Amino acid sequence: MKSYLTHPVFKLIAETALEMRVEAYVVGGYVRDLLLGHPSKDIDVVVVGKGIELAQAVAQKAGNCKVKIFKNFGTAMMRYNDWEIEFVGARRESYRRDSRKPIVEEGTLEDDQNRRDFTINAMSISLNEASYGTLIDPFGGEDDLKNGVIRTPLDPDITYSDDPLRMMRAVRFASTFNFRINQSSYEALSRNAKRLSIISQERISDELNKIILSPKPSLGFKVLFNTGLLHQFFPEMVALQGAEFKEGKGHKDNFFHTLIVLDNVAEMSDNLWLRWAAILHDIGKPKTKKWVDGIGWTFHAHDFIGAKMLPGIFKRLKLPMGDNLKYVQKLVALHLRPIALTEEIVSDSAVRRLLFDAGDEIDDLMLLCSADMSSKIPEKIKRYKENFELVRQKLIEIEEKDKLRNWQPPISGELIMETFGLKPCKTVGDIKTTIREAILDGKIKNDYGEAYAFMIETGNNLGLSLK
Ligand code: ATP
Ligand code: MG
Repeated sequence: MKSYLTHPVFKLIAETALEMRVEAYVVGGYVRDLLLGHPSKDIDVVVVGKGIELAQAVAQKAGNCKVKIFKNFGTAMMRYNDWEIEFVGARRESYRRDSRKPIVEEGTLEDDQNRRDFTINAMSISLNEASYGTLIDPFGGEDDLKNGVIRTPLDPDITYSDDPLRMMRAVRFASTFNFRINQSSYEALSRNAKRLSIISQERISDELNKIILSPKPSLGFKVLFNTGLLHQFFPEMVALQGAEFKEGKGHKDNFFHTLIVLDNVAEMSDNLWLRWAAILHDIGKPKTKKWVDGIGWTFHAHDFIGAKMLPGIFKRLKLPMGDNLKYVQKLVALHLRPIALTEEIVSDSAVRRLLFDAGDEIDDLMLLCSADMSSKIPEKIKRYKENFELVRQKLIEIEEKDKLRNWQPPISGELIMETFGLKPCKTVGDIKTTIREAILDGKIKNDYGEAYAFMIETGNNLGLSLK
C-alpha cells in the first residue's frame, strides 16, 4: 500500500501522539489536495482524545512555536515554519433545525468522518505507529476524486439541511475542480436551496468568491442557477436570464451572455474584482429594457443604471464597500465606451476622453471590453476585433504623447480665483471645465502656457477682468 506523509512535520506529530498515547489522523482538504497532486501547507489533524493537549505538546517539541487555542471549539492552531496545522478532537455532531451550529460531543474517528461534507473531504491518513501513512477512506472518496464526482457521504438531504453552507461548498468544489455533483446530491440542492436562509451572507459570499475565482466560473454559476441557490441571494443576476420576443425579434439571454464574458475574463485575469465587473457589467439591463417601434429591444443607459445599482448589491452581499466597489462601478459605468469607439472613426479626442475617464483602470476596462465582444456573426466579430485593435493602438499612442492617465489639468481652481479676483463660485468650476474640455478636444495642448492663455481668453469672454 502506498505510504503518504513523508515530511518531518508529520513524523513530529506522530511521535508526540505516540508518547501521549492518542490516535491522530490528517484529514479533509489536505488529504484531498495531496491525492490530487497539489498538496497544500494547511494541515488538519483529528485527534481521538484531546486535540488541544496534543497541539501544545507538538509545539513544545518543535521548539516552542506559537499555539492559538480556541477553547469553545476545542481546537488549536499552530504555525510551524510555513505550515499551518490545526488540531481538533474527533467529534460527533447533531443539529437543530434552526441553526448550522451543531451540538458537539467527543466521538470516534468514524463519527468524525461521518460529519464531513463530501466523500472527497472525508478521507484521512493515519499518523499512528501501526498504520502510519495509510489512507482511511470509508466512503469511496478516492474513487470519487478519480472520477471527478462530488457526493455527500450520508443522505444529502440531511447533510445539506444540517448545514446549508455545504450546498455552496458543493458548487465551489464542482466549479474549482470541474467535477460533477452526483445525481442525488444535485437534486437535494434544489430541495434544500431555501435553507440557505439560515447562513450568514458573509459565509455565502466567501464561497461565491471562490466559485468566481475558479478556472471556469460559469460551471458553478450554472449549477447555482439551475438549483435555485442563486435565487436565494442574487435576484438581480437571475433577472438577467431569458430572452423576450416581439415581432419575431428577440434580444440575447443576458444571463448566459454574462457567463461567457465572465469565463473570457477568467481566462485572462485572476483579479476577483475584474471578474465581479464581468458579472455585473449588464446588471442594469433588465431595468432599462424597452421595446422601441422601428428599432427593437433597447437597454438605454444600462451602463449608468447598472453602476448605480452596485452599492445596494455590494451592501447586501456583504462585499467590501470601499475601493473595490468604486473600481467595479467605474468599469461597469464605462464598459460600453471602448466598444462605442470601434463603431465610429476613432478620433484622438474620443480616445483622450476615454483615457481621462478610465485613468488607471484603462487596461482592465479594455480587457473587460474584449471579453464582452460577442456576436453570432463571424464577420461582425472580425470587424469588431480589428477596430478594437485600432483603439488599443491609439490609446498607447495618445498616452505616450499626452500622458493623460491620472491627469490633473494644469490650471487649478485657486489660480483661476487669484487671476480674476473671484471667491469660490460656479464660474470657477465652469472655467476649469472649459479648459479641461479644450485639452481633451485637442483645441489646446496639455501644457501650462497654452492652458494659461486659454484661461485668460475664457475669462474675458465671460466679461471678467484681471485682478
Ligand atoms: P479549502 O481549505 O480549500 O477551502 P477545505 O475542504 O480544506 O477547502 P476547510 O474549510 O479548510 O475546507 O475545511 C477542512 C475540512 O473540514 C474539509 O475538508 C471538510 O472535511 C471539513 N469541513 C469544512 N467545512 C465543512 C462543513 N460545512 N461541513 C462538513 N464538513 C466540513
Ligand atoms: Mg483547508
